[in-house]
Amino acid sequence: MQFQYWNAEIEKMPRAELEALQLKRLKKEIEIALRAPFYKERLSKVGIKSSDDIKTLADLNKIPFTTKDDLRDGFPYGFLSIPKDEVVRLHSSSGTTGIPTVIYFSKEDIKQWAGYMARCIFATGCTKSDVFQNMITYGLFTGGLGFHQGGEEVGMLTIPAGAGNTARQFKMMQDYQTTVLHATPSFLLHLETKMKEAGVPRESLFIKKAFGGAEPYSEDTRKRIEALLKVDVYNSYGLSEMNGPGVAFECQCKDGLHIWEDGYIAEIVNPDTLQPAKDGETGELVLTILCREATPILRYRTRDLTSFYTEPCACGRTHRKLKRITGRSDDMLIINGVNVFPSQIEEVIMSLKEVGNNYLIVVEKDGALDKLTVKTEVNAEIFMDDSRHLNALKEKIIETLQTSISISPKVELHESGSLPISEGKAVRVHDNRPKDV
Ligand code: AMP
Ligand code: ZN
Repeated sequence: MQFQYWNAEIEKMPRAELEALQLKRLKKEIEIALRAPFYKERLSKVGIKSSDDIKTLADLNKIPFTTKDDLRDGFPYGFLSIPKDEVVRLHSSSGTTGIPTVIYFSKEDIKQWAGYMARCIFATGCTKSDVFQNMITYGLFTGGLGFHQGGEEVGMLTIPAGAGNTARQFKMMQDYQTTVLHATPSFLLHLETKMKEAGVPRESLFIKKAFGGAEPYSEDTRKRIEALLKVDVYNSYGLSEMNGPGVAFECQCKDGLHIWEDGYIAEIVNPDTLQPAKDGETGELVLTILCREATPILRYRTRDLTSFYTEPCACGRTHRKLKRITGRSDDMLIINGVNVFPSQIEEVIMSLKEVGNNYLIVVEKDGALDKLTVKTEVNAEIFMDDSRHLNALKEKIIETLQTSISISPKVELHESGSLPISEGKAVRVHDNRPKDV
């Protein structure tokens, strides 16, 4: 196989040099962090007053972990480390409470991010001759703009198609002779069904590659998409706290995701003991960003479960590879690429006085896509009421949930006392999607 490198010097850098570069950048990132109110306090508590207190990479251990709750506690400016007028963009994601986690970017940060993204895209064999249709949500979500900038950086004709509307997507693919797609794996699977329904012949399309990320999927799902759409599928991993996509990506070997270690320090820890996992053992990924000046984040607990490959990659890159993410160490659900915490749903349901005490969240597959159903008990007198009231209540729940979690679930109202009650700890989430990872 002929491999190509966006930045061969960095991508194939010998490990010892790579680690020296990491240490240099970590020290710089510590200086940056000390300018952010949150870390100024946190680091001084553990005796880190300047980058001189970090002498080796092992000194990272002195720094406490950062969690999503810390980011929320620091909202809106606790993690900002440059003057506000140097900030050119923000991205944010919602969470368990109404407080979002927000990441700020300087001009240089955006440039850095685009560079890492370009590196990922180029590693899959794309060139400036490709036409790239980015079929993912733009806006506060990082998948849209992140991939967009990377595509442009590579020099590809980059189409900001956005998510949904398969008919329009097919039309664009035909009109502009798209060769590369990016979408969630569920949307890629869905696309094939729609292609058949719409009578779009595969021969009328020019697609060769697809990037799939933002949610977990198995090797079998990859193979299925590849067989159905006749494209090569590459796994893309990232999270908004670490810029978004561009953290780890598969190369042409399609066997594990290279994590760009000049931009991120990756650790894998046992989620219970928080001690380092043994070589090759599965644990929670912890990341420190080394390539951002506006919002430093040190030792972030991603909650994503994975392990390192122990063998080097045939492509010659020296940056370690991560196995597919197999799940999370918290209860976050990913529904068609959108992150949802069960507590967000509970908050909405319990704020409505018509709703009873018991509820159930059911996630299942509806064709290729995920379907969310919220079953909730309603007070007896309302249940006996006329069906117009029940329908109005249903609509109200759907609307409120849509505002809170950006998903319109199916809502079922049940008579008080009719939903199953589990003995012991309540099991309110039934995730019935096949677990084939
Ligand atoms: P967000 O911050 O909204 O971009 O969501 C980031 C989360 O999406 C990650 O922490 C993962 O749980 C999940 N995620 C992103 N990419 C992948 C992937 N390729 N495989 C599995 N999960 C992913
Ligand atoms: Zn490789």
